[in-house]
Amino acid sequence: MANIDEPLRKVLGDKTAKALEKGLDLHTVGDLLHHYPRRYAHRGELTQLSGLQDGEHVTVMAEVVKVQGRSLNRSPGYVLEITVTDGTGQLKLSFFGRKGSYRPEKDLSPGTRGLFAGKISTYRPRSGREVRQLTHPQYKVVAEKGAEEAAQEWADEIIPIYPSTKALPIETIGTSVGTVLDQLTLPADPMPGPLLGRRRLIGLREAYEGIHRPRTWDELNRARARLKWDEAFVVQAALAQRRLAAAALPATPRPPAFGGIQAEFDARLPFELTKGQREVGEEIAADLALEHPMHRLLQGDVGSGKTVVALRAMLQVVDNGGQAALLAPTEVLAQQHYRSITGMLGDLAQAGQIGGAENATRVALLTGSQGAKARKEALLDAASGAAGIIVGTHALLQESVQFADLGLVVVDEQHRFGVEQRDALREKSGGGRPHVLVMTATPIPRTVAMTVFGDLETSVLGQLPAGRSEIRTHVVPPEKPAFLARTWERIREEAADGRQVYIVCPRIGEKEGDEGDAMDMGDAMDMGGAGDAGDDSGRRSPLGIMEVLPKLEELLAGLRVGVLHGKLHPDEKDAVMRRFTDRDLDVLLATTVIEVGVDVPNATVMVIMDADRFGVSQLHQLRGRVGRGSLHGLCLLVTDAEPGSRARERLDAVASTTDGFRLSRLDLEQRREGDVLGAAQAGRASSLRLLTLQRDEDVIRDAREEATALVESDPALSDHPGLAAVLASLLDDDRADFLEKA
Ligand code: ADP
Ligand code: MG
Repeated sequence: MANIDEPLRKVLGDKTAKALEKGLDLHTVGDLLHHYPRRYAHRGELTQLSGLQDGEHVTVMAEVVKVQGRSLNRSPGYVLEITVTDGTGQLKLSFFGRKGSYRPEKDLSPGTRGLFAGKISTYRPRSGREVRQLTHPQYKVVAEKGAEEAAQEWADEIIPIYPSTKALPIETIGTSVGTVLDQLTLPADPMPGPLLGRRRLIGLREAYEGIHRPRTWDELNRARARLKWDEAFVVQAALAQRRLAAAALPATPRPPAFGGIQAEFDARLPFELTKGQREVGEEIAADLALEHPMHRLLQGDVGSGKTVVALRAMLQVVDNGGQAALLAPTEVLAQQHYRSITGMLGDLAQAGQIGGAENATRVALLTGSQGAKARKEALLDAASGAAGIIVGTHALLQESVQFADLGLVVVDEQHRFGVEQRDALREKSGGGRPHVLVMTATPIPRTVAMTVFGDLETSVLGQLPAGRSEIRTHVVPPEKPAFLARTWERIREEAADGRQVYIVCPRIGEKEGDEGDAMDMGDAMDMGGAGDAGDDSGRRSPLGIMEVLPKLEELLAGLRVGVLHGKLHPDEKDAVMRRFTDRDLDVLLATTVIEVGVDVPNATVMVIMDADRFGVSQLHQLRGRVGRGSLHGLCLLVTDAEPGSRARERLDAVASTTDGFRLSRLDLEQRREGDVLGAAQAGRASSLRLLTLQRDEDVIRDAREEATALVESDPALSDHPGLAAVLASLLDDDRADFLEKA
């Protein structure tokens, strides 16, 4: 009898257990059961041998055509050479050793079919064509000679193929799983029976059977459906519990007030709120009025106007005598938020000053780099409550920062902050927990949002403000040098018209090996990523600002060019940004520090050098820096990438649409799951084995629905002990990190 927690040693014996432990890090019966086949083959099928690549690890099904042993010329050894075929191509298998000591010649006579696993190598004999071979492949006989005459049923039999590893004989996993399945005792199915019925899912034992030794493709499909469900459900149940627990915490209600600072602000708004802004605003206003903390994710494409929504929420809290903190991921952004918020509020931000409005409050800025005096003042304003709004970077999280009555935390650009940081701020409010609003400009596909941000309610700003100008995007490719010349000309024209231009490079490029700013900002969760780092080998290093600057000064002689990157002193950064905002600069040459949030409506052209070095979402973000006012935006993607290359396809996609949601889906398709789920998930492919965020949206959605209902009716899962145990083991496990860090 084998329980799911049973060490494999007990069931399979020391030798096999050790091999599985060493080769695949499998320790218990459960580990082995969850080590699913990578793919399945028919017994009658032969793998096409022509497509094999040099250096590739493969498992192929093929038929032996020739067996030949020969002595080696120089050494006393002997090599057994076996040729296998798929009916057209051939592959050579070489086994070295002493004559007669080998099983291969007994097992593999002509006509035998087998699975052969190993790494493909190529050699060219002195005469003749290249030969591809596997040296000392693992093998497993699948059919003896003459088996062709056997029944169709037999030929159709499904053979699971497990990921091959050098350390293990090819049949070890299959036989071990078989042994385990034969002895397996499972506890009662953790999923409630009615749920399984409703969702037409099979039992767990049947699912393990079906995934490891399916008799039909149908059985296999049903098994996959059930096991996928479990993966999705467990995560969603854990998230539902988190949501429920968070919702049960106390918070101070901050209902909308009449005739306060928010009303005054609304009355002065120079534009009309979009429908989306109004609707989301109402959702948030209602949340803030509750006695439990809000946890809301506000996603809206670049330029959709999230800041106003957040500011109105902050003012609602201020109207209730509370304070709001706005956490920004970079100094540049914190400073910009500070400037734009004080700008929008005008005399409403001048409490205690001459000319301050009646309902006025104060806005404080707290960053890591400010001078001692400014910092002391800001700290004082935060602690005394004089400042209703405190804008800052990570510096806000330090222990020395205290608030009089922190009612709302707004986190801008969520993907740069972890849950720990959100929690650190929450801790700072005295009695109740503050409400939390998280904003992200990276449109997140629903599946990712449901899985990664599943502990947050989500609101979407789907529509850009009216009058928002069009952004046209063009690729400036290597085969059309005239386009590049035109680019510089265009920049001069814009400057002559009083407009401004961004030029972005992937690196700073002061010295060798400089990584540039993509790394500066710790973007583990950045869906934009840093481009296709994988295919960089052998290419020239990406363009750096410092290399481009002298050329620009030549090409754009007479224009005022400023430089902005992450290694500048914060004061310098601020000064450069300010000069650009004040139109004292025509061109801002920058790294991706301007990727998020920078808002200068007079900037009309964005030129991205080596555009192929950036990720899709990153390009989209960068492009969102222009076309923010009434002026049309133009984005030029300068690249060396050849037509038809993958890099060019990506750039063409970015040029073809400004729909951030469509682009992020495209981005997701090009990435591996681990990238999407972030650092916490990387290297732990174990938690989601079958479920994929791209293809299983319906499973994730259904699981979320069922899990939420179940957890609401039975929060501690006391009526579902099996499920509670599965969840506990998930949360025990370091997999809990995945939920935490999401
Ligand atoms: P994001 O969602 O990218 O953070 P912002 O909040 O920075 O976008 O808004 C972009 C610009 O659009 C700002 O200049 C803001 O003042 C302006 N804006 C916001 N809402 C509206 C609206 N309803 N109508 C017109 N302009 C708006
Ligand atoms: Mg913003």
